[in-house]
Amino acid sequence: MSISKYVMIGFLAIAMGAVAQPATVEPAPPQTPAQPTSSAVTMDDVVNRAITREHALMDMLKTRTPLIETYLQNLKPDQTLGAVPSGDHYFLGRMDLSGNIDRRDYLPKNESFEKMLLGGFTKLFHFQYRPLGFAWMIFADRQDFDRQHYDFKFVRREFLGDVRCLVFDVTPKKDAGDGRFLGRVWIEDEAYNIVRLNGTYVPRPKKGYFFHMDSWRLNLIPAYWIPAYVYSEEGDFSYGAKDKLAFRAQSRIWGYDLKKDASAEELAQIRVDSVKDNSAQAEDASPLEAERKWQQQAEDNVMERLQAAGLLAPAGEVDKVLQTVINNLEVTNNIDLPRPVSARVMLTAPLETFSVGNVIVVSRGFIDTLPDEASLAMVLSHELAHIVLGHKVGGKFAFSDRLLFSDESTYSNFGFRHTPAEEAAADAKALEILKNSPYAQKLDVASLYMKQLSERAPELSALLTPHLGNSITDSKGNIIRMSALLQTGPALDRTKLDQIAALPLGGRVKINAWDDHAELIKGAPVAITSARDKMPFEVTPFFPHLTRFRNPGTTDNTTAEPNTTNPTSTAPSNGPNN
Ligand SMILES: [Zn+2]
Repeated sequence: MSISKYVMIGFLAIAMGAVAQPATVEPAPPQTPAQPTSSAVTMDDVVNRAITREHALMDMLKTRTPLIETYLQNLKPDQTLGAVPSGDHYFLGRMDLSGNIDRRDYLPKNESFEKMLLGGFTKLFHFQYRPLGFAWMIFADRQDFDRQHYDFKFVRREFLGDVRCLVFDVTPKKDAGDGRFLGRVWIEDEAYNIVRLNGTYVPRPKKGYFFHMDSWRLNLIPAYWIPAYVYSEEGDFSYGAKDKLAFRAQSRIWGYDLKKDASAEELAQIRVDSVKDNSAQAEDASPLEAERKWQQQAEDNVMERLQAAGLLAPAGEVDKVLQTVINNLEVTNNIDLPRPVSARVMLTAPLETFSVGNVIVVSRGFIDTLPDEASLAMVLSHELAHIVLGHKVGGKFAFSDRLLFSDESTYSNFGFRHTPAEEAAADAKALEILKNSPYAQKLDVASLYMKQLSERAPELSALLTPHLGNSITDSKGNIIRMSALLQTGPALDRTKLDQIAALPLGGRVKINAWDDHAELIKGAPVAITSARDKMPFEVTPFFPHLTRFRNPGTTDNTTAEPNTTNPTSTAPSNGPNN
């Protein structure tokens, strides 16, 4: 084994070692006030400009069809842990922001829009919650956001991250009509875009709910703040509370910059480039070489197609972290494959992995909840074992015609599942790989992770329903992946504060809503002070650290701290560079 190939674990301890939590409210950074590009003198001007900018945003987004993912956990009270999940729902679809949607159709069932929104994902859809409603929450009022319908009252100035904001309470005027926004908006003080909305819609209809929402936008492209996160929550368990409905839901929006019709694009560029052979001796491929090239072609096709459908992050920073762990496993096991194994990040929340050719794909939600590097190694080792054992799936996608389907039907056209026998063989091989690896003595946390998953699995069936890979659980919610780890290591103890078995969702990976790049969140660990702070696999509110857009490579920023980077759609970047 070559020493240079060996990557020390310490490097990753920085990225993966922190007990990640959603970012907390930070105090306003000490900085000189930014110069407004154009000065709005009165609060009236501020409101007028914010209204103008809101309509400009709706206009700009008209041609976009981003993905919206909503993951919702129903809650039940627990003596020790407070509110814990009692069930869950998952929605994924594409939004059409062309503006012909009447928000008041939210309550009566609007078949065509639901179909459009959900596309091929209807089987995931639970009508009780109408994900449509979550999609709406990116704007205060799509139709009538103006002074004829609303009153605006200045509250205070406040920093959200690095961005100074003017905060206004927004109330619908008397007789403004149904389904009007009631709440608060944060308006940044340079171009007067709304960056955050928090509130609900009124009046509450007889048969239904308008959920409360906290909706965040990010300055991912010049001049616009793009809707990226919506947090919703209803119900409480305080004494005497009457709420029948209790849930928390995270909606993430991404894929704004995806081609509107990627399949049409692909018709024009069916792959011919891989035919060209630049090797010194340009011979025909031997049968074995041909087999490998065929697999590679399938692998390339699948990754391209998943990325075009908005389900896979472009190659980037997180891949390299996964790659490092894979290298550690390979080198210590003398695994020497004809082509290197690499890794990619799927953008969705459900916990799943799969591999096509030599590429291992891990979902964002899975990475989010893993407490340390050894548990990540545990997850990756299973897929690496499939590759080492030559369990091939997806070879049929070397035929380009098999990639010509609509983005929304990706899940019904793709699938990379192994037989139960191959799954068992991969688990056995994976344990062998782990025992020879630098993680051999650190598998206690991996075992606790599986135990935590086992404990919560019956309530988290949506989170545990894979869409492309093999399931981690059987139909009854029993763990079937790496289940040997359930028998080893320490016992799960929910009251032990230094035992972190699994993290909440959203603590590790941040997705750029505009261009889909994934990056690791570099937050400092937040101290856990009670068993309720652990929140394994749970949904929490969002609190992104807002920063202003900066062109990559430029240094003339007015913000004080280059704390997070905002990769842009225009830059041919491999990910954020900080
Ligand atoms: Zn497998």
